[in-house]
Amino acid sequence: MPFVFDFDHTHRKPPMEMKDLLGGKGANLAEMTSVLELPVPPGFTIGTTACRSYMEQGWPDGLTAEVAKARLRLEKKMGKRIGDPSDPLLVSVRSGAKFSMPGMMDTVLNLGLNDHSVEGLAKQTDDERFAFDSYRRFIAMYGRIVLDIPGDEFDALLDAAKELAGTTSDAGVPVELLRYLVDAYQQIVERHTGKPFPQDPDQQLRGAIEAVFASWDGPRAVAYRVRERIPHDLGTAVNVQAMVFGNRDDTSGTGVGFTRDPATGATGEYGDFLVNAQGEDVVAGIRNTEPLAALKDQFPTIHAELLAIFARLEGHYRDMCDTEFTIEQGKLWMLQTRVGKRTGRAALKMAVDMVGEKAIKLSKEEALDRITGEHLEQVLHPQFSGSGATVLARGLGASPGAAVGRVYLTADDAQAAAERGEKVVLVRSETSPEDVHGMLAAEGILTARGGLVSHAAVVARGWGKPAVVGAEALRISGSSFTVDGTVVKEGDWISVDGTHGTVMLGQVPVTAGETPPEFETILGWADQVRAGHLGVRANADTGPDAANARRHGAEGIGLCRTEHMFLAEDRLPVVRRMILASTPEEEEQALEALRVAQRADFVDILEAMDGLPVTIRLLDPPLHEFLPDTQELAIKEATSGLTEEESRLYEAAKTWHEFNPMLGTRGVRLGVIKPGLYAMQVRALMEAALDRVAAGGHPIVEIMIPLTVSREELALARSWVEGAITEALAATGATGAEEGKMEVLIGTMIETPRAALRAGEIAEEADFFSFGTNDLTQMTFGFSRDDVEGRMMSAYLEQGLLKRNPFEVVDPDGVGELVRLGVERGRATRPTLKIGVCGEHGGDPESIATFAAAGLDYVSCSPFRVPIARLAAAQAVLAGLTTAKGPKAKSAGKATAKAKSKTKR
Ligand code: ADP
Ligand code: MG
Ligand code: MG
Repeated sequence: MPFVFDFDHTHRKPPMEMKDLLGGKGANLAEMTSVLELPVPPGFTIGTTACRSYMEQGWPDGLTAEVAKARLRLEKKMGKRIGDPSDPLLVSVRSGAKFSMPGMMDTVLNLGLNDHSVEGLAKQTDDERFAFDSYRRFIAMYGRIVLDIPGDEFDALLDAAKELAGTTSDAGVPVELLRYLVDAYQQIVERHTGKPFPQDPDQQLRGAIEAVFASWDGPRAVAYRVRERIPHDLGTAVNVQAMVFGNRDDTSGTGVGFTRDPATGATGEYGDFLVNAQGEDVVAGIRNTEPLAALKDQFPTIHAELLAIFARLEGHYRDMCDTEFTIEQGKLWMLQTRVGKRTGRAALKMAVDMVGEKAIKLSKEEALDRITGEHLEQVLHPQFSGSGATVLARGLGASPGAAVGRVYLTADDAQAAAERGEKVVLVRSETSPEDVHGMLAAEGILTARGGLVSHAAVVARGWGKPAVVGAEALRISGSSFTVDGTVVKEGDWISVDGTHGTVMLGQVPVTAGETPPEFETILGWADQVRAGHLGVRANADTGPDAANARRHGAEGIGLCRTEHMFLAEDRLPVVRRMILASTPEEEEQALEALRVAQRADFVDILEAMDGLPVTIRLLDPPLHEFLPDTQELAIKEATSGLTEEESRLYEAAKTWHEFNPMLGTRGVRLGVIKPGLYAMQVRALMEAALDRVAAGGHPIVEIMIPLTVSREELALARSWVEGAITEALAATGATGAEEGKMEVLIGTMIETPRAALRAGEIAEEADFFSFGTNDLTQMTFGFSRDDVEGRMMSAYLEQGLLKRNPFEVVDPDGVGELVRLGVERGRATRPTLKIGVCGEHGGDPESIATFAAAGLDYVSCSPFRVPIARLAAAQAVLAGLTTAKGPKAKSAGKATAKAKSKTKR
């Protein structure tokens, strides 16, 4: 296959579908040229295969010859030759990858000019000023972009020339000074490169093409791809195109146009235009642009022609397009088009509008496929408006949205400030359950350590609070922190962008999150598509969270973390009393107090989710998380001394200390050594369920055992749960009729590789599985979820050792394989086994596709991600990843209608 294709090359399929080979820009230039037959300056595209081969082994064999031939064809079409001293053809060299990518090489315009051809251009156009202006632009662009010379050296000279000429506009610089600039610019080049500015057009062309190839692996491009999840091995195409000049005179100009408003989605053209200008002048903000409507007054026929082209583009691409156009002496040229980027609000409006439009006739399915999770996020959460603010630090965008507040560095200070009415951002090196009150008081959260499933990240997402975690450049000490020498003190304002993972100094303006009416329309369509295929539940720990989740469309709770109930300020001392108890009576008393408190919590949750399944996970984290930090106490002991209470806590904390608590006494293992704990939780839960029945409700309870690794372990846990259920029913004197009104299932999390592998035997004791993919990822990779993201993840992503952060997007091959195995083996034992996922991946669209394909019944995620999961689930169904399991899922529900019949097997 050749490397080079003319814009009018006949391909076997529409060029717009060949972005892999031609890049986005090249594919659409070819589409406009050969399919739509729009006025496009001729040119050719060097395909991405050439760039890939360049990356592997340098300049590809045969490319020089192909480019030379394409150049001849172009010269023939134009009736001019590049570098011709009397009438030169000029070209632009434009990069263009499959996905549009800022950070790669910019475009070089006016290539082909040299000391001779510039004179020819001047004569041909009878405009010396224009010719030398074009030449000085070319040398500066080529110098900056291809030869890596700092652009401000050229700018400084241009400014000096303008001052000398007593003008503020580029166009006001007289030709003598332009000639002088051309000379001076060439000297800058020679000083930096040790060689004269290349005069040979072949050499200029080769240099520009090579610079585009090399820019693919430039640091800015690599960083952009990591952020946008674009694979590193695609490579870029290069477009070489005949120049047209919007800077000829006042019958010329250049502009950008959208076929409808990309910010609001409103119908009707939208864009900017500049008379007598070239290329980037419109976007560079050098001169004030005019709206497209002004074109109508100055160039009425061209305005009409442009609108007709817009209509054709929309009908052809069946979507909103953005365009670049240039007018040269009264003639319109199209220089670029693509399906345009848009805000979330505009995306929703356009998708819904286009379903009803005759020219486009979008199907509902197509409309759904045009909306991304990011679009929904934009309308759900407040966002920073504009993008000018300088970034102070970067971390992981752990919970989307924009937050502005004053810095506080401890949870207590944050809470106190919020009580005084201040807006607060809590900054910690990492958070722990003890910081929860400060997190609650804060507008946003920033941590120096931790990853996407760290405490800070999980809690913030649950509440929909913006958070940036793992901003490793932060050095926190006392009442301030520093980033590369900048000191930020307690009380200073900062702005935290949890969508993009950035932190800015000061108060960056925010636009409120606001869901337009089309939001519900789209999600309604999504629900129709995924019905009977893939359910969406929420992770919620309290009544208000559950109610919020239901408002966002959750069809139940997939994970209620009961430990969060223990962390409330009034509960923590009781938990500590239980851990410290020196006699069975003391322990009993503490458990009793907890039971009363938990019962009330459960009533709230079951009420908020009445009629929908609620998965309650029994206590999971290691007990030492409920005890104070040993280091802090050690310091206090050495300095001001400890109270008697504190020394007891200190002793307990030391006793429970583990070297690797994530692999230690947690989950069901905790139950094994403190069985009273789980019995208490189940009793509180059953009482709450009976309360709900008495109040006329319909509680559906799923009791979930965490961290199980074997059948024996689950059988033991199951026996406690069943025992506690029987006891609770007896103690409350519940009748058979009452029991019949509630549903109880007992199941387990699958979150270790062993559990996934032994799912067959574990299913003998389980009514349902829920994959805990945070731990499963941690244990499958052996990556500590609290450490690796800050330390090594970026290096792994940049070097392509990992395609994705596996804590963000579930690893489809390794962890995914375990999920698929677990599903298959579990259902082989028990075909009606209900299976879901409750890790943080449950709200990530790509992961949802993996889970859908694995045959899961539902995904569960934090409440604010529920709409995104509903959309992603529908998209997975549309992609054909699922099989309908409506009837099967229903019969599984029926078979377990009665708690007792189910639990006494
Ligand atoms: P980007 O991807 O940054 O938009 P482009 O390759 O589209 O880069 O080019 C940058 C600017 O130069 C645009 O305004 C474009 O319209 C203009 N331009 C590119 N090629 C030509 C050309 N052959 N004639 C006139 N202007 C051009
Ligand atoms: Mg462009
Ligand atoms: Mg877990």
